[in-house]
Amino acid sequence: MEFPSKLIEDAVNEVAKLPGIGKKTALRLVLHLLKRDEEQTQSLAESLVAMRSKVKHCRKCHNLSDNDLCSICASHKRDRSLICVVEDTRDVLAIENTAQYKGMYHVLGGIISPVEGIGPSDLHIESLIERLRDPDGDAIKEVILALSPTMEGDTTAFYLQKKLRMFSIKISTIARGVPIGGDLEYADEVTLGRSILSRISYE
Ligand SMILES: [Zn+2]
Repeated sequence: MEFPSKLIEDAVNEVAKLPGIGKKTALRLVLHLLKRDEEQTQSLAESLVAMRSKVKHCRKCHNLSDNDLCSICASHKRDRSLICVVEDTRDVLAIENTAQYKGMYHVLGGIISPVEGIGPSDLHIESLIERLRDPDGDAIKEVILALSPTMEGDTTAFYLQKKLRMFSIKISTIARGVPIGGDLEYADEVTLGRSILSRISYE
Protein backbone atom coordinates (compact mmCIF):
# COMPACT_ATOMS: atom_id res chain seq x y z
CA MET A 1 0.00 0.00 0.00
CA GLU A 2 1.44 3.39 -1.07
CA PHE A 3 0.64 6.17 1.40
CA PRO A 4 0.58 9.86 0.54
CA SER A 5 1.70 10.65 4.09
CA LYS A 6 4.17 9.04 6.49
CA LEU A 7 1.96 10.17 9.40
CA ILE A 8 -1.04 8.36 7.95
CA GLU A 9 1.09 5.31 7.24
CA ASP A 10 2.29 5.20 10.86
CA ALA A 11 -1.25 5.51 12.19
CA VAL A 12 -2.52 2.80 9.85
CA ASN A 13 0.29 0.47 10.89
CA GLU A 14 -0.51 1.01 14.59
CA VAL A 15 -4.24 0.42 14.17
CA ALA A 16 -3.57 -2.66 12.01
CA LYS A 17 -1.70 -4.25 14.94
CA LEU A 18 -5.06 -4.73 16.68
CA PRO A 19 -6.57 -8.20 16.34
CA GLY A 20 -9.05 -8.67 13.54
CA ILE A 21 -8.10 -5.43 11.82
CA GLY A 22 -6.37 -5.60 8.46
CA LYS A 23 -4.59 -2.77 6.65
CA LYS A 24 -7.71 -1.85 4.66
CA THR A 25 -9.91 -1.50 7.73
CA ALA A 26 -7.14 0.40 9.53
CA LEU A 27 -6.95 2.85 6.65
CA ARG A 28 -10.72 3.31 6.67
CA LEU A 29 -10.66 4.07 10.42
CA VAL A 30 -7.77 6.48 10.11
CA LEU A 31 -9.43 8.36 7.22
CA HIS A 32 -12.64 8.46 9.25
CA LEU A 33 -10.80 10.13 12.12
CA LEU A 34 -9.27 12.65 9.73
CA LYS A 35 -12.74 13.65 8.57
CA ARG A 36 -14.01 14.17 12.13
CA ASP A 37 -13.19 16.93 14.60
CA GLU A 38 -9.70 16.83 16.01
CA GLU A 39 -11.16 16.62 19.54
CA GLN A 40 -12.63 13.21 18.75
CA THR A 41 -9.18 11.75 18.03
CA GLN A 42 -7.84 13.56 21.09
CA SER A 43 -10.39 12.00 23.41
CA LEU A 44 -9.94 8.57 21.80
CA ALA A 45 -6.19 8.75 22.37
CA GLU A 46 -6.60 10.06 25.92
CA SER A 47 -9.11 7.39 26.94
CA LEU A 48 -6.87 4.63 25.57
CA VAL A 49 -3.81 5.93 27.39
CA ALA A 50 -5.74 6.42 30.64
CA MET A 51 -7.29 2.96 30.37
CA ARG A 52 -3.92 1.35 29.70
CA SER A 53 -2.11 3.06 32.55
CA LYS A 54 -4.83 3.09 35.22
CA VAL A 55 -6.89 -0.06 34.94
CA LYS A 56 -5.85 -2.61 37.53
CA HIS A 57 -6.81 -6.06 38.68
CA CYS A 58 -9.11 -6.45 41.68
CA ARG A 59 -6.97 -7.68 44.57
CA LYS A 60 -9.61 -10.19 45.55
CA CYS A 61 -11.02 -11.70 42.36
CA HIS A 62 -8.57 -10.42 39.68
CA ASN A 63 -11.36 -8.91 37.63
CA LEU A 64 -10.41 -5.71 35.82
CA SER A 65 -11.16 -2.69 37.94
CA ASP A 66 -10.52 1.04 38.40
CA ASN A 67 -9.99 0.48 42.12
CA ASP A 68 -8.25 -2.00 44.42
CA LEU A 69 -11.54 -3.83 44.76
CA CYS A 70 -13.80 -4.28 41.74
CA SER A 71 -17.41 -3.10 41.89
CA ILE A 72 -18.63 -6.67 42.40
CA CYS A 73 -16.31 -7.43 45.33
CA ALA A 74 -17.11 -4.03 46.84
CA SER A 75 -20.87 -4.48 46.55
CA HIS A 76 -22.99 -5.39 49.58
CA LYS A 77 -25.75 -6.75 47.38
CA ARG A 78 -23.83 -9.82 46.21
CA ASP A 79 -24.08 -13.30 47.71
CA ARG A 80 -20.64 -13.80 49.24
CA SER A 81 -21.16 -17.51 49.83
CA LEU A 82 -20.86 -18.19 46.09
CA ILE A 83 -17.77 -17.92 43.90
CA CYS A 84 -17.99 -18.41 40.16
CA VAL A 85 -14.61 -19.31 38.66
CA VAL A 86 -14.06 -18.03 35.11
CA GLU A 87 -11.23 -17.79 32.64
CA ASP A 88 -11.18 -14.04 32.09
CA THR A 89 -13.01 -10.75 32.46
CA ARG A 90 -15.01 -11.29 29.27
CA ASP A 91 -16.70 -14.24 30.98
CA VAL A 92 -17.59 -12.07 33.98
CA LEU A 93 -19.22 -9.61 31.59
CA ALA A 94 -21.07 -12.39 29.75
CA ILE A 95 -22.43 -13.84 33.02
CA GLU A 96 -23.29 -10.39 34.42
CA ASN A 97 -25.26 -9.70 31.23
CA THR A 98 -27.52 -12.65 31.98
CA ALA A 99 -28.60 -10.92 35.25
CA GLN A 100 -29.11 -14.43 36.67
CA TYR A 101 -26.13 -14.61 39.00
CA LYS A 102 -25.68 -12.62 42.19
CA GLY A 103 -22.59 -14.23 43.67
CA MET A 104 -18.91 -13.34 43.50
CA TYR A 105 -16.27 -14.23 40.91
CA HIS A 106 -12.72 -15.44 40.67
CA VAL A 107 -10.90 -14.71 37.42
CA LEU A 108 -8.19 -17.27 36.67
CA GLY A 109 -6.51 -15.21 33.97
CA GLY A 110 -6.45 -18.11 31.52
CA ILE A 111 -6.90 -21.86 31.46
CA ILE A 112 -4.49 -24.76 31.68
CA SER A 113 -3.14 -25.40 28.21
CA PRO A 114 -0.09 -27.64 27.80
CA VAL A 115 0.02 -26.73 24.09
CA GLU A 116 0.45 -23.05 24.92
CA GLY A 117 2.67 -23.81 27.89
CA ILE A 118 0.17 -22.54 30.46
CA GLY A 119 0.27 -24.49 33.71
CA PRO A 120 -1.63 -24.14 37.00
CA SER A 121 1.05 -21.87 38.48
CA ASP A 122 0.44 -19.33 35.70
CA LEU A 123 -3.16 -18.93 36.86
CA HIS A 124 -4.75 -17.30 39.92
CA ILE A 125 -5.41 -20.62 41.63
CA GLU A 126 -3.47 -20.07 44.87
CA SER A 127 -5.42 -16.89 45.58
CA LEU A 128 -8.66 -18.81 45.10
CA ILE A 129 -7.52 -21.35 47.68
CA GLU A 130 -6.56 -18.46 49.98
CA ARG A 131 -10.06 -17.06 49.67
CA LEU A 132 -11.49 -20.39 50.76
CA ARG A 133 -8.97 -20.83 53.55
CA ASP A 134 -9.27 -17.34 55.05
CA PRO A 135 -11.17 -17.74 58.35
CA ASP A 136 -12.02 -14.03 58.36
CA GLY A 137 -13.11 -14.09 54.74
CA ASP A 138 -16.49 -14.74 53.22
CA ALA A 139 -18.10 -17.96 54.40
CA ILE A 140 -17.99 -19.64 51.01
CA LYS A 141 -20.45 -22.48 50.51
CA GLU A 142 -20.14 -23.17 46.81
CA VAL A 143 -17.63 -22.78 43.99
CA ILE A 144 -19.09 -22.85 40.49
CA LEU A 145 -16.65 -23.79 37.74
CA ALA A 146 -17.86 -21.82 34.72
CA LEU A 147 -15.18 -22.71 32.21
CA SER A 148 -15.50 -23.18 28.48
CA PRO A 149 -16.55 -26.72 27.52
CA THR A 150 -13.29 -27.35 25.68
CA MET A 151 -10.51 -29.79 26.47
CA GLU A 152 -8.53 -27.04 28.21
CA GLY A 153 -11.61 -25.95 30.17
CA ASP A 154 -12.26 -29.54 31.27
CA THR A 155 -8.63 -30.05 32.26
CA THR A 156 -8.72 -26.88 34.34
CA ALA A 157 -12.02 -27.84 35.98
CA PHE A 158 -10.62 -31.29 36.84
CA TYR A 159 -7.48 -29.78 38.34
CA LEU A 160 -9.47 -27.26 40.36
CA GLN A 161 -11.93 -29.73 41.82
CA LYS A 162 -9.02 -31.90 42.98
CA LYS A 163 -7.44 -28.87 44.65
CA LEU A 164 -10.71 -27.73 46.22
CA ARG A 165 -11.81 -31.11 47.52
CA MET A 166 -10.05 -30.47 50.85
CA PHE A 167 -12.67 -27.83 51.69
CA SER A 168 -16.14 -28.80 52.75
CA ILE A 169 -17.87 -26.81 50.07
CA LYS A 170 -20.07 -27.71 47.15
CA ILE A 171 -18.31 -27.73 43.78
CA SER A 172 -20.50 -27.40 40.72
CA THR A 173 -20.17 -26.75 37.02
CA ILE A 174 -22.51 -24.84 34.80
CA ALA A 175 -24.95 -27.04 32.95
CA ARG A 176 -23.95 -27.69 29.36
CA GLY A 177 -26.47 -25.48 27.64
CA VAL A 178 -23.28 -23.94 26.34
CA PRO A 179 -22.38 -25.66 23.06
CA ILE A 180 -19.57 -28.19 23.43
CA GLY A 181 -16.30 -26.72 22.21
CA GLY A 182 -17.81 -23.25 22.37
CA ASP A 183 -16.68 -20.20 24.26
CA LEU A 184 -18.63 -18.86 27.21
CA GLU A 185 -18.62 -15.31 25.93
CA TYR A 186 -20.31 -16.39 22.69
CA ALA A 187 -23.16 -18.26 24.36
CA ASP A 188 -26.36 -16.28 24.17
CA GLU A 189 -27.57 -14.66 27.37
CA VAL A 190 -30.61 -16.88 27.86
CA THR A 191 -28.58 -20.07 27.41
CA LEU A 192 -25.79 -18.90 29.67
CA GLY A 193 -28.24 -17.63 32.28
CA ARG A 194 -30.01 -20.98 32.31
CA SER A 195 -26.67 -22.80 32.55
CA ILE A 196 -25.80 -20.89 35.69
CA LEU A 197 -29.16 -21.54 37.32
CA SER A 198 -29.27 -25.24 36.50
CA ARG A 199 -25.70 -25.96 37.48
CA ILE A 200 -24.77 -29.47 38.47
CA SER A 201 -22.46 -30.96 41.09
CA TYR A 202 -19.01 -31.75 39.81
CA GLU A 203 -18.43 -35.48 39.84
ZN1 LIG B 1 -13.23 -8.27 42.54
